[in-house]
Amino acid sequence: MWRTISIAVVAALWLSAVLQAEPTKKTTPEKQSPLAVAPSLALPAPLPAAQFQGRVRDAYQAAADIPQVLAEVTCYCGCNKSQGHRHLLDCFVDTHGSTCGHCVNEALDAHALFMTGTPPDDIRKFIDSKYGQ
Ligand SMILES: [Zn+2]
Repeated sequence: MWRTISIAVVAALWLSAVLQAEPTKKTTPEKQSPLAVAPSLALPAPLPAAQFQGRVRDAYQAAADIPQVLAEVTCYCGCNKSQGHRHLLDCFVDTHGSTCGHCVNEALDAHALFMTGTPPDDIRKFIDSKYGQ
């Protein structure tokens, strides 16, 4: 009888130890995942498309519609050096995109490809081969 109870107590203690250890175990992957998730969570917001016109407006709208795609695409207008832009999305966070036909063309190309179901990886490759020379 006491043996059964003590086994039950040990089992309960072991179980609670395992349950308590569980969150500690989880913190390791959770600590790593923000690094992988952070770029998409931390995507900068483009300026409102409504304040522009024509193709520039379409490009700003594209940036608002598919920021995660533009964030994977390199802008080849030279703004990485002149403006410190990291990717095409950065061009539409300020007014740079409205003064640069290169950025607009890239964004509209990326958006058109996206609308035909092209995977982001292939969009990036297309932009690289068309503008990256
Ligand atoms: Zn640019």
